[in-house]
Amino acid sequence: MTYRAPVSDYQFILDQIVDFSAVLESAAFEDIDAETVAAILEEAGKLASDVVAPLNRGSDLTPGNLVDGVVKTSPGFASAHGQIAEGGWIGMLAQPENGGMGLPLSVATAINEMMSGGCLSLSLQPLMTQGQIEALEHHASDAIKALYIPKLISGEWTGTMNLTESCAGSDVGALRTKAERNGDGTYAITGQKIFITWGDNDFSDNVCHLVLARLPDGVPGTKGISLFMVPKFLPDADGNPGVRNGVKVVSLEHKLGIHGSPTCVMEYEGATGWLVGAEHQGMKCMFTMMNNARLGVGVQGVGVAEAATQKALAYAQDRVQGRSPIGTENGAIIDHADVRRMLAHMRADTFTARAIALACGVALDLGRTDPEQQARGAFLIPIAKAFSTDIGHEVAQLGVQVHGGMGYIEETGAAQYARDARITSIYEGTNGIQAMDFVGRKLMDGGEAGFAILDEIESFAEAARATLPKRAIAVWNAAETLREGMEAMLALPMNDRFAGAVPFLRAFARVLGGHYHLKAAIAEGGEGPRSRLAAFYIKRMLPEHAALLAQVRLGAADIYALSPEDLSA
Ligand SMILES: Cc1cc2nc3c(=O)[nH]c(=O)nc-3n(C[C@H](O)[C@H](O)[C@H](O)COP(=O)(O)OP(=O)(O)OC[C@H]3O[C@@H](n4cnc5c(N)ncnc54)[C@H](O)[C@@H]3O)c2cc1C
Repeated sequence: MTYRAPVSDYQFILDQIVDFSAVLESAAFEDIDAETVAAILEEAGKLASDVVAPLNRGSDLTPGNLVDGVVKTSPGFASAHGQIAEGGWIGMLAQPENGGMGLPLSVATAINEMMSGGCLSLSLQPLMTQGQIEALEHHASDAIKALYIPKLISGEWTGTMNLTESCAGSDVGALRTKAERNGDGTYAITGQKIFITWGDNDFSDNVCHLVLARLPDGVPGTKGISLFMVPKFLPDADGNPGVRNGVKVVSLEHKLGIHGSPTCVMEYEGATGWLVGAEHQGMKCMFTMMNNARLGVGVQGVGVAEAATQKALAYAQDRVQGRSPIGTENGAIIDHADVRRMLAHMRADTFTARAIALACGVALDLGRTDPEQQARGAFLIPIAKAFSTDIGHEVAQLGVQVHGGMGYIEETGAAQYARDARITSIYEGTNGIQAMDFVGRKLMDGGEAGFAILDEIESFAEAARATLPKRAIAVWNAAETLREGMEAMLALPMNDRFAGAVPFLRAFARVLGGHYHLKAAIAEGGEGPRSRLAAFYIKRMLPEHAALLAQVRLGAADIYALSPEDLSA
């Protein structure tokens, strides 16, 4: 069973759940219509299913490898990357005047999900380049834009993001990489970056590193950091790759998963760099692209969850053990209540995470011109990143369980999904950091963006009472409990908020899930597969919000009451 991109589900969510039509009606996207979007999703779905997905297993078995200082990539990656570039998918978010497709973020989010579901390791390469293009569009000089963006979009050159150092992970401000003015407008970059995704490859003519470093007069912390473009080969007078720059891959990390994605230790020794944005404004530049990057990682979780669900479902329909408890002739394990429960859980949460991500994409698309939607998008980002990636590995773990012993055996590929998904909760800001952002910065408006979402959930549930009274009342009640939980959260000092941040974020996602499942059921007229899935979610999964919210009120005292000595007892 190989992955098939769930194009009809994206279409359903866009049409029925997240009001994508408002994006098409907005001034920013007046050149794109619904038929074009449908055709784009179909086309991307074929690429993800037929070209990208077949490489997934092989890339796990034959990881990228460092040979004479160059990363030799997994079999088939060069050709597939070429096809991704040819289709224009690397530049799908780039502005049309720069040669991009200028697609709405909501559509790109669906496409990024399907590429991740096909092969997470390969999909990371175009995603990194996508992020770099966005940073350059917003902050680079015209000369840098003109030279780099077309080559990045065409896939001739590829991009990376270099933030992390051994002393600077979550705390980016602790970085030690130095930048010195060369006196000719360029800078000399010296230092070591670790964990750099796709830090090198054997299929692009140049690898362009966006590097955070500190100038001699940069103050300590995040405020003293600047952003630089540091290419592997210095462009010559004609803009072609010229002499080698002072940057190299020192080694590749050996990882739990995403074996096909080369994770590099990069050494910069007086490498020539060009400033992107103003001096000391590097973090501000990174923040511009943070929302898209986090949403891009969020749907990596959803993509893997989808792929794991498809695989587990196929296995459960084929594997026979014992007699069917519901009397199906030759009943397979899917007839056992516990197996059916696991599969329903997988499908229900994959839908929830997908709907949250697409709702977030729509809000950010509308937010280009509407500040309220901008605030909503920003509010949803930590949920879209953290919940979706947590769901990615939870669903993948259930996928292993559905397979039984064969799930633990690598050849089925179920274990690969569980290994691959694990990183998504860690990079691009760990999920703990996302949750702190959620209860800290994202509640600085006094909860306005969050309460507005709860108002909408409640008024939709009220209207849905006529068709699905029990489900609608359960969702309304859950939204009300969440409202009380949010009020309690807002009354707490910051470190007490942080102690309950992860459960609070998940509770919010659970209630959003109730809302989106209810909407799906109503769109179907209250009967059918989506309505049955909604009933499962609302009865069995939504109630989790209450237990999660109970933790919010506890603050931090009982956690700190446990000393390190207590924990080692
Ligand atoms: C496979 C892989 C690919 C990566 N790709 C890239 C890349 O392309 N470019 C790049 O720059 N980086 C990349 N990273 C780095 C990644 O973003 C970091 O690993 C991540 O940000 C966490 O930093 P850390 O590993 O130093 O963990 P730490 O910051 O040491 O965190 C350890 C734990 O402490 C918690 N913690 C830390 N600070 C706080 C705090 N203030 N409050 C509460 N809890 C806290 C964290 O949530 C975590 O649970 C990659 C990492 C991996 C493993």
